[in-house]
Amino acid sequence: MTVIRTAGAAAAAALLAATVVAAPAASANPATQCATLGWVGDSLSVPLLAEGRGTIQSGSVGQDTPLAKDLLPQGVNTIYYDVAGARSAVETVNGTPNAVDALASLPAADCYFAAVGTNDAANIAVGSEVDAAERVKRLRGAASGKPLFMMTVAIGENATANGYTPAAAQAMNDAITAGLPTGHVLDWAARSTTELRAADGIHDSAAGISSRARAAGVFFAGGTPAAGGDDRSPGQPCQAPVIALDPGHNPDKIEAFDRQSGVLMVDEPNGAEDADVMAVAKAVRSALESRGYKVVLLKSSTDQSISYRDRVERAKSEGAALGVSIHTSINENSIFPQREGNYREGVGADGQHTRVAFSNADTAAASEQYSMMFAQARATAEGRSVVVRNNSFDGRAGLWGGNIPVIALIAEDVPWVYNEFGTPTTGGTVKVPNEELARYATGLVAGIIASIPNDCGQQTLPAAPEPS
Ligand SMILES: [Zn+2]
Repeated sequence: MTVIRTAGAAAAAALLAATVVAAPAASANPATQCATLGWVGDSLSVPLLAEGRGTIQSGSVGQDTPLAKDLLPQGVNTIYYDVAGARSAVETVNGTPNAVDALASLPAADCYFAAVGTNDAANIAVGSEVDAAERVKRLRGAASGKPLFMMTVAIGENATANGYTPAAAQAMNDAITAGLPTGHVLDWAARSTTELRAADGIHDSAAGISSRARAAGVFFAGGTPAAGGDDRSPGQPCQAPVIALDPGHNPDKIEAFDRQSGVLMVDEPNGAEDADVMAVAKAVRSALESRGYKVVLLKSSTDQSISYRDRVERAKSEGAALGVSIHTSINENSIFPQREGNYREGVGADGQHTRVAFSNADTAAASEQYSMMFAQARATAEGRSVVVRNNSFDGRAGLWGGNIPVIALIAEDVPWVYNEFGTPTTGGTVKVPNEELARYATGLVAGIIASIPNDCGQQTLPAAPEPS
């Protein structure tokens, strides 16, 4: 964080002191054994990469596709892809090569990923003579001795297309798991939820696309897919992600300067909002815990008084991968991300004009990405558009001016997503109806899952969140 103090607001141009609090080191980008990766896919890969055939490298066209954005930072320098709808390992559709032929004809690569299996599952279910084990074997053969990776297939109960059933997916997944070495299977089926699937039960929702790409990035992180993937060696316990939930306002008025940054922290109760957001936070907590996440409530009850600084320190000490502030406000459906240069400014404890700015680029990038995922997930669940934007605190009595909530500003090394939710007539001091709070909770859960997938797998089937 950058703190700039000047002798009074009038002399803002003359900087007397500039203190830069060091940002933490950027996360390491371990080299992967798959510097070049060949990817064949079906329609599920279209939004991840593109349809057709191509090559993606850092700086090339396609570097901003969801999959490339998550794989390139993990040391995958080049992605050769061949993607076609309806593709399976065996059948040829409209003269387009099947996955085996497409894979064999890709440029030579260090590793290959066969992102197929959904159509194979259905084709087997409707009577193909080539079984799932044989399909996996042919895909491995096409990789000519190089590592071949696949992901498990998820088909929802609500899918209606012929042959596309959860049972067909399960049979395919058994063959994928049995037919590939340990560490070569990304278990997407363990992550997939209704929120991550499109209405057809087969394709990915917007949140699902982001989550799948991110899961692939995590899979390739840490040197080899085996190290970052689902198949951990025995005795290496999986660390469930920690999510810090910040249920809104404080029961007592706090008006204090943060000792570390000097920013003015003002927090006070806000009527019905306090119980509303606590109910949402508890519903989100129970939905996440049922999926194996570790959840920290930064305020354990509506009566607990705790400053922004203490909340942030608690999130950090618990190792939170993400902080989520939960607020309501009438007709306000917004998300405020941490952005480099966003700031608060006003008269500090020493009487000098002080400006505190957010300066951690890594945290800001993560916050921006997660905020977009939250916006997509929330819009789907809430049925209203959700905007990612800066807030404005200018001209608000008793508060420092600027454009970022204080808690997000001082959480320099914890990616934070600050949420406001309301209906046209409720929110803030006006109680939000419970069914609307339930939508808010559902959207937050989906946003969290998309942002920080639980790579330890799903422990139990989640219940739909209900505010308590
Ligand atoms: Zn609020």
